[in-house]
Amino acid sequence: MTFAFSQSSLERREGVDQRLIDISDLAIRLTKVDFGIPGDGGIRTEARQNELYLAGSSKCDGVIKLSNHQTGKALDVYAYVNGASWEPEHLTSVACAMLQAASMLGHKLVWGGHWATFIDMPHFELSE
Ligand SMILES: [Zn+2]
Repeated sequence: MTFAFSQSSLERREGVDQRLIDISDLAIRLTKVDFGIPGDGGIRTEARQNELYLAGSSKCDGVIKLSNHQTGKALDVYAYVNGASWEPEHLTSVACAMLQAASMLGHKLVWGGHWATFIDMPHFELSE
C-alpha cells in the first residue's frame, strides 16, 4: 500500500524548511500507516502561536519562547487509520517512517515522542 498527501496536507506544509518537505515526501512512500498534516502543523505566525499557547496547545508563547513552527523548522502529523488518529501506536509507526526518511536523506530529525518531559508525538523538528 502506498499513500500520497491530500491537497490540504500539501497546503498546510507550504513554507516549511525544504528538508521537512523532502523528509515527509519520502516518509509518505515508506510508511505502513497513512498520515497527513493537520491545521497548524506547518508554519505559524507569532499571533497564531500565541493563540495556541493561550489555548494550552503549546508550551511556546510565540513571543518570548519561540516555537520551531514559527521558523518553518517543525512539522506536525496525524495518522490516518479509518479517519484521523492520534493513537500512540499509529503515530509511532509514522515516526518510524519519518525518522527512516530523515536518515536516508542525511538530515537530523527530532521526534517529539522521544522527549522526556513534554511528549509531543505528532511533532517533528530539525535539530540543526
Ligand atoms: Zn509541533
